[in-house]
Amino acid sequence: MVLHLDMDYFFAQVEERENPRFKGVPLVVGADPKKGKGRGVVSTCNYEARKFGIHSGMAISKAYEACPEAIYLPVNMELYSRVSENIFRIIEKVSEKYEKVSLDEAYIDLSGLAENYKQAERIGCDLKKLIFKKEKLTCSVGIGENKMIAKIASEEDKPDGLKVVKAGDALKFISQKSIREIPGIGPKTEKKLEIILEKSGLKIKDLRAISKKQLVDVLGKRGEEIYKNVRGEDDSEIDLKTKTKSIGKEITFDQDTLDPEKIISTFKNLSQRVAGMAKTEERPIKTVVVTCRFENFNTYSRQVSFKPRKPTKGLIYKKGAKLLLKLLAKKLKPVRLLGIRVIFDESDKE
Ligand SMILES: [Mg+2]
Repeated sequence: MVLHLDMDYFFAQVEERENPRFKGVPLVVGADPKKGKGRGVVSTCNYEARKFGIHSGMAISKAYEACPEAIYLPVNMELYSRVSENIFRIIEKVSEKYEKVSLDEAYIDLSGLAENYKQAERIGCDLKKLIFKKEKLTCSVGIGENKMIAKIASEEDKPDGLKVVKAGDALKFISQKSIREIPGIGPKTEKKLEIILEKSGLKIKDLRAISKKQLVDVLGKRGEEIYKNVRGEDDSEIDLKTKTKSIGKEITFDQDTLDPEKIISTFKNLSQRVAGMAKTEERPIKTVVVTCRFENFNTYSRQVSFKPRKPTKGLIYKKGAKLLLKLLAKKLKPVRLLGIRVIFDESDKE
């Protein structure tokens, strides 16, 4: 049995806690909207802001258009990290066997802790109470026989939800859900599957009509997993390593630019910052990923892997710049956002 815990609208909820006057009014955490001329995106928003159609990942200018009277706050990562650490300390008290997915999301392995769903529900309930008592924040919990079911269950009664899906009910539970609820199915995969089935708004049950071979033909190896997922199965394991897998930084320009000097100096600066952060991990890196978003919002990523090496500024910049130049030469469009990320070597894992 697996428990999935997800803090509700995390960044925005923390801001509400720090400043109760933000409660009950639309609150958006993300880039500066600059009266509609702002760049960058929404990180998180509260439920009042969602009523205006605002959501994570949306361009901040669009959010402003939808609700200029909302309160807009910059991302205060230092604060959220601190709160996150406290939450994980509470999780650790419940179980050491957990996977940290992000600052506000974790899977907890309940095997050995709960013998049945009733006990599991009790653990979920206690965990929610504990977090609320110590941090004054709500979260949503889902419990299921595997990670996927637990994750979909945690979405069910958000915010402040607790949903238990027993093994026998799992298939029925997921059938009518949108296929986008399967972790890893994004808009692109959804499109491809809609083309196969000549239908939009696909439900998980619809995908059971596609053969394994067909799924693999279209989606590659991932198709095999999805074939299982839509049948309620998921054999991915809870990843107990809490080591950081990758570190990256990105920046949105104040204005789209094709100025080579500006692009290169910004990229150098990003590489340096990523190298600085990566060094503290004291582990070799094996991959550099460069992301570039152009004025039309099309976003491209390119990556290169190599024999594991120390994350020096020179290495990251050299590998990254090559990728970036190739991308720019091909697209030749003003750049909106630049990002660089390094992935650590994990071959040394125990
Ligand atoms: Mg969350």
